[in-house]
Amino acid sequence: MLDRCQGFSRGLYANWFWHRQLQLVVDAGEGLSLALGTRVFSPSIVAITHGHSDHILGLPGFAGARRFGKGATDKPWTVVYPAGSRSLDGVRTMIGEQWRGVTFPITWTPIEPGGRLPIRGSFVLEAFAVTHVPGQPALGYRVIEPRRRLRPDFADLPEAEIAERARRDGRASLMEAYEHVVFAHSGDAMAIEPGLVRAADLLVHDATFLSAADRREPIHATSEEVFALASNAGVRALVVMHLSIRYDRADALVRLRAQRAASGFTGSCWWLDDGAFIPLAD
Ligand SMILES: [Zn+2]
Repeated sequence: MLDRCQGFSRGLYANWFWHRQLQLVVDAGEGLSLALGTRVFSPSIVAITHGHSDHILGLPGFAGARRFGKGATDKPWTVVYPAGSRSLDGVRTMIGEQWRGVTFPITWTPIEPGGRLPIRGSFVLEAFAVTHVPGQPALGYRVIEPRRRLRPDFADLPEAEIAERARRDGRASLMEAYEHVVFAHSGDAMAIEPGLVRAADLLVHDATFLSAADRREPIHATSEEVFALASNAGVRALVVMHLSIRYDRADALVRLRAQRAASGFTGSCWWLDDGAFIPLAD
């Protein structure tokens, strides 16, 4: 599940997540271009969740590496970001001032909650509203793949009966369209709605706190809330990230593993801490 992903997460310092198969990067904290190296030309979309510095300060370096490095310097790429984010407008201005007269193959695409953008293949990127810091436009993203499946009212029919109906009425009459969530990312947020990530292949979610007792304002989720959400939504693989640097890492690992086990979440599960994916399930 994670063989096509790379990421970095340290709350207040730098956060980004690269989904190689989707050619998608979510957030652009410092160090993004450094970590991607020659693969810096691979992403087609950089989706920014919100304008806090640990999510955007890698964007100028990424733009510079893409424009002046050795590789596909004219390959177009798109920055998707929350409409009304003044910090993003600031970064955009900064890139323009840093390299005056240089044209970048960047499309800047502000997006509102519910906004959709086709990305590679049949995949669609959708933004959704999340609860973070008041006054800071903040989004989560999910990538949807349109699929077809047998209609539920036919699910219990015997094989022969289904074949007979397919011959008689056509196979299309037995099928229904649905949207499968391939990937979702909460950005910095309180726990998102389980309905957004039902049966998702991979969810990356903020888990800044190990316990609600450590949280002063309702702007970040706890790991316990995220395990419950993932279990409830039937998520197949989960990455928790953005854990506060207040926690001792060895102690946090023990607590995260115990919380995961107690939550009943049975999918694959990792903690992204700095650049390492640390397994939380056996
Ligand atoms: Zn934030």
